[in-house]
Amino acid sequence: MRKLALHWQILIAIVLAFAAGLWIFEVKETSGAHPGVFGVEFVTMFSYIGTLFLNALRMIIVPLITSSIIVGVAGIGAGGNLGSLGGKTLLFYATTTLAAILLGLLVINVIQPGIVDGEPARELLALEAPDIDVAATVGDKGVGDVAEIFVRMIPTNVIKAAADGQMLGLIFFAILFGYFMTRLSHEYADPLFKFWDGLFHVMMKMTEWIMTFAPIGVFGLVGAVIAEAGLKATGPLAMFAVAVLLALAIHAFGTLLLLLRFVGRVKPIKTLIGASQAMLTAFSTASSSATLPVTMECVEDKIGVSNKTSSFVLPLGATVNMNGTALYECAAALFLAQAYGMDLTFGVQFTIVAIALMTSIGVAGVPSASLVAIAIILAAIGIPLEWLGVLMVFDRILDMCRTSINVWGDACCATIVARLEGEETNVAL
Ligand code: ASP
Repeated sequence: MRKLALHWQILIAIVLAFAAGLWIFEVKETSGAHPGVFGVEFVTMFSYIGTLFLNALRMIIVPLITSSIIVGVAGIGAGGNLGSLGGKTLLFYATTTLAAILLGLLVINVIQPGIVDGEPARELLALEAPDIDVAATVGDKGVGDVAEIFVRMIPTNVIKAAADGQMLGLIFFAILFGYFMTRLSHEYADPLFKFWDGLFHVMMKMTEWIMTFAPIGVFGLVGAVIAEAGLKATGPLAMFAVAVLLALAIHAFGTLLLLLRFVGRVKPIKTLIGASQAMLTAFSTASSSATLPVTMECVEDKIGVSNKTSSFVLPLGATVNMNGTALYECAAALFLAQAYGMDLTFGVQFTIVAIALMTSIGVAGVPSASLVAIAIILAAIGIPLEWLGVLMVFDRILDMCRTSINVWGDACCATIVARLEGEETNVAL
């Protein structure tokens, strides 16, 4: 019997997890007790399985990022065209992120989820806000203010940066390391290259193996989220969630597909199918960093982008290019400003767009990381930080969706840049 493709297995796991999660949620709501067996709650089991899978992915991030960037930069730099690839990549990242933000701005301005019957929804929202410690939630996500993002790009200690998950610092170091390898004589450069390339290939093999457990891991991760939160949907917040989902969908299946077709000259749907496993993993883990190994595997094996391009574009993109996150930051800040009854002048909207653009670069690829960036925007436009609390109601599910779009944006960029660099790929028109 032919084995079901992994992305189908993952999709089935997600559907089953929704069903199981909703059942647990219902039982919990009606009886007041968490269902389980032998005294262990199902939801605890789900989280446990999910954590094992997530940890396995996280375990390989630091060696994977370091080796792939060093090999990528050294490989490209030796050929002398790092500038052209780097330039195209950064231009693509900046324009798609800006396009995503402006789309978020447009959709929230049109749908106006923060206004109910012509009035700002502040009272309605106050009722829905869960009681959370905002400072604690925001505290550990690794983004300071905007200026600090650039300071963290140059870490004082690269080992500490890696240990603390400060990927920007690690990436900067790896780019420099790879670049200076190309300045060495063959005697030194060749064994170094062999070492890093070998390490990179081991990491990709480990990814493949870890991914065979994905359906079980994904079931645990998604099941635990749904069992805890159910599918609550009330008032302006539900409207906001719908607006965000709409904007994300337009960006992912409109803007990006058009870019693939007309700039990359590739088959958009085939590319989407090629990236599906990475997008589903991103959806379940809500972490683009943790998904990176899978993204690399999909982009190279399924879409057919060269290792040279993908190993430069993707690790950088997992931290720097976050289309979904940027869109969400802008939409969320604007929604809260509407609900607060703020006068949305050009100045306010411009501030939101500018900070969303800059912070999306520094946001770590971990769950809920954009809350920190939203806190920065709220501080800049003068809305109390406590207002962030209302966003928590839907944060996880929206996080899952925006992370998929972050990863999809990276995959599109790698495909288009590869085509512009003259690569054939498996998806060419
Ligand atoms: N969870 C997102 C990511 O890893 C970041 C965020 O928007 O919170 O890409």
